[in-house]
Amino acid sequence: AEKPAPLSENSAAPQSSIKISSRDRVIYPESGLTKGELADYYAAVAPIALRWLGNRPISLVRCPQGRAKHCFFQKHDAGSFGDNVHHVDVREKDGSVQPYLYVDDLDGIMACVQMGTIEFHGWGAPVTDIEKPDRLVFDLDPDEGLDFAMVKKAAEDLKVHLADIGLTSWPLLSGGKGVHVVVPLIPQADWPVVRSFAERFARALAQAEPERFTANLKKLNRKGKIFIDYLRNQRGATAVLPYVARARENAPVAAPVTWSELRDLEDAKRYTIRDAAILLERATSRALQGWGEAGQALPDL
Ligand code: ATP
Ligand code: MN
Ligand code: MN
Repeated sequence: AEKPAPLSENSAAPQSSIKISSRDRVIYPESGLTKGELADYYAAVAPIALRWLGNRPISLVRCPQGRAKHCFFQKHDAGSFGDNVHHVDVREKDGSVQPYLYVDDLDGIMACVQMGTIEFHGWGAPVTDIEKPDRLVFDLDPDEGLDFAMVKKAAEDLKVHLADIGLTSWPLLSGGKGVHVVVPLIPQADWPVVRSFAERFARALAQAEPERFTANLKKLNRKGKIFIDYLRNQRGATAVLPYVARARENAPVAAPVTWSELRDLEDAKRYTIRDAAILLERATSRALQGWGEAGQALPDL
């Protein structure tokens, strides 16, 4: 196999015109990783991240003073991101129209990083038609202290049940505690249909195996179980996107893996922002070819 090109300044890594200030500011105090290193990570993975991150409404987790200080979740633009971060009008439940953010290139990502962004979360629909989801995400949230083996088994079970109804799915390591099961869709059904499908699917699993699963948001009902968070699939909800760095200890990233790789993993934090070269190499590897891609529509359920 060919070796990946080194990610030094004189490599072919894409160059951004966005100037990153305070490159030496430590963003991850437990490991000393800096804003500059985070920016370099995003610059390196931008070509593979944009496939997921580009051209959909995003929310940002911004931590201007680093992940251990104040962080906030930003959905709309307050007008400070510059020309590389674009807007898409979204009508909210209350009838107001808000300028949601999206990016479509490296400079857009870097402009967000410059503004203290660590995490990018995306809608399940593209800006070209925000009312028609192009992916489902089942976010598996284990109860405190639950073994990762249980999470893996749950993800695998979802995969099988989805396949039974004609849907191919792929696992995404969240970079945190869980795994997201990602189901690409032909943009066809509207949000209410997609949400209803996701909810009924999650409830059916919880009903069949109430000892293992819950589809109930309330923490009280989660004891020793995995919450199948189907609520990522409603209009306005977001989920972390592939290759996004997390604002968590030691800078883990959300990473696509194969079903067979998942079986051998010990946690969802396998990759970190130090792994840009590996992630780039993996993205073009045979194993991850076609990850998250399938022309499929929701079946009747
Ligand atoms: P983990 O595997 O540790 O659960 P996760 O990314 O799935 O990682 P969750 O807590 O399950 O984390 O969050 C699910 C999603 O909810 C996030 O990916 C994000 O898009 C959304 N979210 C997170 N924080 C907020 C917030 N403050 N406001 C609105 N939505 C949020
Ligand atoms: Mn989760
Ligand atoms: Mn969740």
